Amino acid sequence: MQTQYVRTSKRGKHHTYSRNKTVVLFRCDACQGVFKRDKGNMDPKRLDNRYYHVCGNCDAKKFAQEKGVESRRVWDMPVSSLKTLDQF
Ligand SMILES: [Zn+2]
Repeated sequence: MQTQYVRTSKRGKHHTYSRNKTVVLFRCDACQGVFKRDKGNMDPKRLDNRYYHVCGNCDAKKFAQEKGVESRRVWDMPVSSLKTLDQF
C-alpha cells in the first residue's frame, strides 16, 4: 500500500512524496470495525487467521469469554498503539 505525504518546503512549494509502507487491514471480530496496523510493528504469527483480532475499542477478554475461546488466541491490542482509518 502506498501512503502519500505532502510537505511544505522553505520556499512554500508543496512537494508530494510517497513511501511504501505495508499496512494490514483487520476486521475486529467483536465489533466488525475495520482497523489498520503497520505490518512492521506486528508479530508475523499474529497475522494468522486462526487468531481473533480485537480492536482497541473492544474488550478482548470479554470477547474471549463470550466466544468461549482461549484468551491467548485473541489478539488484544493496546489502545495506545492502535491506529484507526481516520488517522491515516
Ligand atoms: Zn472492535
